[in-house]
Amino acid sequence: MARITFLGAAGCVTGSKYLVEAGGRRLLLDCGLFQGNKQLRLLNWERLPVDPSTIDWVVLTHAHIDHTGYLPRLVRDGFRGPIFANSATRELCGILLPDSARLQEEDAENAARKGYSKHSPPLPLYTEAEVAPVLARITEFPRNAWQVVSPEFSIRAHDAGHILGATSIELKITENGKPATVLFSGDIGRYDQPILNDPAVPPPADYLLCETTYGDRDHPSGSPHDALAEIIQRVSRRGGAIIIPAFAVGRTQALLYVLRELEDWQRIPQLHVYVDSPMAISATELYRRHHEEHDLEFTRQEPNGDPLETRQMHFLRTPDESKSINRVTTPCIIVSASGMATGGRVLHHLARRLPDSRNAVVLAGFQAEGTRGRALLEGAKTLRIHGEDVPVKAAVIELNQFSAHADRGELLRWLAGMPAPPRQMFLVHGEPAAREAFRTRVETQLGWRNVTLPKLGDSFELPPA
Ligand SMILES: [Zn+2]
Repeated sequence: MARITFLGAAGCVTGSKYLVEAGGRRLLLDCGLFQGNKQLRLLNWERLPVDPSTIDWVVLTHAHIDHTGYLPRLVRDGFRGPIFANSATRELCGILLPDSARLQEEDAENAARKGYSKHSPPLPLYTEAEVAPVLARITEFPRNAWQVVSPEFSIRAHDAGHILGATSIELKITENGKPATVLFSGDIGRYDQPILNDPAVPPPADYLLCETTYGDRDHPSGSPHDALAEIIQRVSRRGGAIIIPAFAVGRTQALLYVLRELEDWQRIPQLHVYVDSPMAISATELYRRHHEEHDLEFTRQEPNGDPLETRQMHFLRTPDESKSINRVTTPCIIVSASGMATGGRVLHHLARRLPDSRNAVVLAGFQAEGTRGRALLEGAKTLRIHGEDVPVKAAVIELNQFSAHADRGELLRWLAGMPAPPRQMFLVHGEPAAREAFRTRVETQLGWRNVTLPKLGDSFELPPA
């Protein structure tokens, strides 16, 4: 009988990996890296309970590292099959996976310098050279049409509206002539957001895996325009700079789109906007180019100029260009990765700008436990950056209207679109409290039964209807 095994994102928001077995074949849905605190990151070093050489296929919902970042390890350890992804996801993997490898290599170098590691010399989880064989295995499959993977498995993608290329995956399993369908939500995005199509109405499914990143919270109501315009006016009047740690993919483009609109409507002054992340620059290019992902509003705006470009925008590619904005003393907006301030160029901007109370840090996305972003949200008086304790005098503003993730209400809206309740629902990709709270909502609001909270390593049979 077909079965599913939870190899990640079962009790946490990262490491998405779901192994589906049927007819002696194995398909892995997403292949994510565990990210966040040390305890989670150490999981990346543990052997998978299944030999990668016995996995036949990988299917990706989207390119985020917590869904793809374990691929170089999987290939190094023997996986030799195709990796199915749509066109935008394939290209984004070409940006995100090399970056992930560089971070792994940097971590290993830092560990070597400081003398902490269980390996001697400290090893990276994988290197940039190990990414090329992964990219070579990615096979594009069509949007919104069935792709036959094997006699046992067929897949079909549905827009998830989360980042460029993001989808939910419908997996049809056929064993002994009997079908069963599993729907993997992937990461669900928001409705009526800029640039991308809304999450599609989900198809019927016997089994459903649903993410619960914001399963216990609703984002603040109101448009991101009002909130952002208010912050920019207030901070620019007092002569401050606005630092926005932003994920290079998704958040940065949504911000640029809204900034451009606010300028068009003359609701904000035309400030210098510095996009300080080579990865964000490349991703913005992909966002422009993949027209098949654009919603109607974006398409309508294009004749009036690039919707992703503000009037005084600067793309900073080199480290010297990045450092040069340390000398900027007039009000400005700095958009820089990483989005949770765990690393990257945003750190030196924070070190420079946090001690000045005229400035503001805008946290425009999910901040995981154990990250500097979360510490700022929780009111830290100092922040440890590059070995120094930096005083936090700047205002810290949470702007969850920019989240790329559906909130509790939007997840319920997406689920309510299913024509019938699934026979069994698995809640994944959420911190324990969020997942627990969301189960209660699903049971009381939708009246669904048989809601399971799998633990890492749990395995369940998937009997046909
Ligand atoms: Zn994601």
